[in-house]
Amino acid sequence: MSTNPISATIDFDKDGIQHGFLRLPHSTNESAWGSIMIPITQFKNGDGPTALLSGANHGDEYEGPIALYSFAARERFDDLQGRVIIVPAMNYPAFCAGTRVSPIDGLNMNRIYPGQAKGTVTPVIADYFSQTLLPMADYVLDIHSGGKTLDFVPFAACHVLEDKAKKARCIAAMRAFGAPYELKMVEIDTAGLYDTQVESMGKVFVTTELGGWRYKLTGDHRYC
Ligand SMILES: [Zn+2]
Repeated sequence: MSTNPISATIDFDKDGIQHGFLRLPHSTNESAWGSIMIPITQFKNGDGPTALLSGANHGDEYEGPIALYSFAARERFDDLQGRVIIVPAMNYPAFCAGTRVSPIDGLNMNRIYPGQAKGTVTPVIADYFSQTLLPMADYVLDIHSGGKTLDFVPFAACHVLEDKAKKARCIAAMRAFGAPYELKMVEIDTAGLYDTQVESMGKVFVTTELGGWRYKLTGDHRYC
């Protein structure tokens, strides 16, 4: 197996609040020794479960990053037990460009999981989630919204799973999110989804669709 080139500037075992980056070396004509610096925040208070929260799996979906950057700015961690890892913009190059797919390699993050350690930027980020972040997680929330081409009523969702006990845990987590609507989904095509990767690893997974439609920020990030 190839080694993923991303390195974290935070220590996942350390208690407290840490703000840092996932550093992905990216040499270009504009920056010979450049890196893509993907923001990451961790709150850790002793032992306990780990929640992994992400937004901007699709770069034009801003409700998740708005909510998660806001949450990452909290000043307390002693009211939590366990660990919360926050990556507000999973597809950071797409988020910066305001596009659904990556402006660097043209790939849709949510169609290429589990990713590749040796490849272009998008599959390398996916591989880091698959190999490093997800193994640490017990609960996973990936916040989507409508982006430029869709407009949703605000809902949290989980998948219809064959394992009834696992499905019940996902439904409970979906309801804990507290969106006005809930959806139990059967995907048309599960190949390459982050959702599929998370669930294949046995994690409790919740996703959302919160508003959207051409940057018309409806305030639906308030549900996060
Ligand atoms: Zn999306």
